[in-house]
Amino acid sequence: METPLEKIIKEIIHRKGPMDIGSFMSLALTHPEFGYYTNRDPFGIQGDFITAPEISQMFGELIGAWSVNIWQQMGRPKKFALCECGPGRGTLMQDAIRSVGKRGSGFLESMQIHLIETSPKLKELQRRALEGRKIKWHKELPKKGFGMPVILIANEFLDALPVRQIIRTSKGWRERHIDWNEGRGFQYVHKPLSKTLLDFIPTHSREYAIYEISPARAKFFSSICNIILENTGAALLLDYGYTMPEAGETLQAVYRHSYTNVFDNIGNNDLTAHVDFHILEKIAHSKNLKVYGAVSQGSFLMNLGIFQRAEMLKEYVRKNGDSNSATKQIEKISQDLLRLTSPFEMGELFKVLCVTQDKANSANGFTITPEGF
Ligand code: SAH
Repeated sequence: METPLEKIIKEIIHRKGPMDIGSFMSLALTHPEFGYYTNRDPFGIQGDFITAPEISQMFGELIGAWSVNIWQQMGRPKKFALCECGPGRGTLMQDAIRSVGKRGSGFLESMQIHLIETSPKLKELQRRALEGRKIKWHKELPKKGFGMPVILIANEFLDALPVRQIIRTSKGWRERHIDWNEGRGFQYVHKPLSKTLLDFIPTHSREYAIYEISPARAKFFSSICNIILENTGAALLLDYGYTMPEAGETLQAVYRHSYTNVFDNIGNNDLTAHVDFHILEKIAHSKNLKVYGAVSQGSFLMNLGIFQRAEMLKEYVRKNGDSNSATKQIEKISQDLLRLTSPFEMGELFKVLCVTQDKANSANGFTITPEGF
């Protein structure tokens, strides 16, 4: 059945000709009426996918501890922005704040929460998760920042920003576009490369391989860097992706925890593409920021003490739960730990990058741990 968004996209293609993949992705995810994120809570077992903070409280708690540490190194500014991009259900922020405790004395009093979110539905869930806290929402990252030092967190946010796909043919570089007609349905076609994409052409390339590029991510990440340069602070980005330039298509659609066709059920599937961390590192270096990583999520979380945290939680359950449910809960903590850190699960595919303007800072979590733990 044709979805309302599918109808809109066909009309645009009919009027203007084939559409670039970035515009398609952006409409499918954030169209103000029918976009995937606009009206739904996509997380968890009932939803389409699950993210690290939704798997376990340990994730947000460790990022809370990380933030306190970097705030202390920043000289404990009396006013600072704790900013999260694409906070989903607000779980990461909720766990991070709860975990601050006595160690971070002064942190909670100094922080102002800023959330970057386009979805009205998720904004409501974030409000509930952070009940009692003063929060300022923004649809976009404010160009100049928040007028104070910033600690910015983004987990599985950049993968939702649009990518485009380019190909080197025997006649030169082309961009993949999406066309539609009654007989064939949706199909990819090649169009000449627009001048705005010339900067994104890879230095080494193979003929007819697909290269994914993301001007939207580069722009978003550049504004993060600029905000940090202008106001001081640090940003922590966690996402699935790669650290060496790579060819290949990673654009994928997910519905109820299974992969599906990008053109099926448009507006009701999550669309994501792997993040090219190599480009992000290059941008940060070009702005003379201090760059940590990207390292694997597994090694980052282990460096931050996720094993010890898991033991503490198990100990708490042993002391406070009844023996029946305690066994189950302890089992779940072990499973969650594995899911977040194992190279066969999220540990290796997910990467973590930190940028800061202060060369004296030493961000936690980035020393290399030996392979395979
Ligand atoms: N960080 C959360 C959610 C990840 S899903 C977690 O780890 O669970 C992506 C989030 O980014 C959602 O909150 C979605 O609404 C938001 N989002 C997607 N595209 C966006 C955009 N262009 N601008 C702002 N928020 C966006």
